[in-house]
Amino acid sequence: MSLLPKSAKVDPNEIFDVIIIGLGPAAYSAALYAGRYVMKALVIGETPGGQLTEAGEVDDYLGLIKVNAQDMIRIFNSHIEEYNLPVILDTVEKYEKHGDLFVVKTKRKGEFKSKTIIVAVGVKRRKLNVPGEDQFTGRGVSYCSVCDAPLFKNREVVIVGGGDSALEGAELLSRYATKVYLVHRRDVFKGQPYYVEIVKQKKNVEFILNSTVTEIIGEKLVKAVKVKNLKTGEEKTLNVNGIFIEIGFEPPVEFAKVNGIETDSNGYIKVDEWMRTSTEGVFAAGDCTSTWLGFRQIITAVAQGSVAARSAYTFLNERQGKTN
Ligand code: NAP
Repeated sequence: MSLLPKSAKVDPNEIFDVIIIGLGPAAYSAALYAGRYVMKALVIGETPGGQLTEAGEVDDYLGLIKVNAQDMIRIFNSHIEEYNLPVILDTVEKYEKHGDLFVVKTKRKGEFKSKTIIVAVGVKRRKLNVPGEDQFTGRGVSYCSVCDAPLFKNREVVIVGGGDSALEGAELLSRYATKVYLVHRRDVFKGQPYYVEIVKQKKNVEFILNSTVTEIIGEKLVKAVKVKNLKTGEEKTLNVNGIFIEIGFEPPVEFAKVNGIETDSNGYIKVDEWMRTSTEGVFAAGDCTSTWLGFRQIITAVAQGSVAARSAYTFLNERQGKTN
């Protein structure tokens, strides 16, 4: 089983029933269901697995106990290969409506035509926007504890955030680093209480709550992080070798704007319960959508992907019915 889906040559004149934009769990699931509804589907995405590539072990996907995230991507690839769906590794820049068809423009591989679209483009990592962050990215500043934790063996680190990513990250880092400071801007956690309890039991993790990072200091590499208590105003400097910023994600505002899709006040793509967007024939699924109040899990993304594919199928059938 491969980490990359089988690449395919696609005739640019072919008209697809659905083009699925993205390659995370929502996109894989949409592809699977498009296959099961015998739709002529094309998947165009950048990174097979999407955010799953940054996960270590997944233990909250029903039926798969403590599965390695890379293995999960391999399973997803094998599953969609059963339906012989073409996958193109590329970036979709935009799509345009020409009559009843959408023309999808990619960065490198040209244009492709489709009757419907499923947008499953995911989200982008949020930044702290403090002095030193850009300067030391890759030199002590990391956005992915799963990817970089082993680099900080026997070192001291800060991890910022109060969601599942930061909590999971703190747990993982505690296995490598001698000291982990978990800096969170509130004293209540957004992440699952299960993770909070696990992290609290780690002797080398210190919680610095109601606090925010104000500056990242270093020379060639990070040497210290300045933290401010939001209640008392007190500032202190933590002498650490690294800082992990795990403070959530930003919606694909630009993609939505370029393609004229309506978003909610936070910038997430608005969908109804059938994953229909504001544009007829365009559906959306996964982390990029406004659904379920930010509860973004692999299993919820996968559920939305299946619904989006089913809706695209229904849409095409209804349109076919009208023209008959
Ligand atoms: P998240 O749930 O959005 O949490 C982001 C955290 O960062 C929040 O605690 C937030 O503080 C804090 N934050 C946001 N902006 C900040 C800023 N500018 N400065 C300081 N702190 C800031 O993000 P996430 O933890 O990356 O998780 C994203 C989604 O993936 C969630 O739905 C999560 O459940 C899911 N996920 C699941 C798992 C799992 O189930 N195993 C693992 C990882 C992620 P406030 O709390 O004050 O808002």
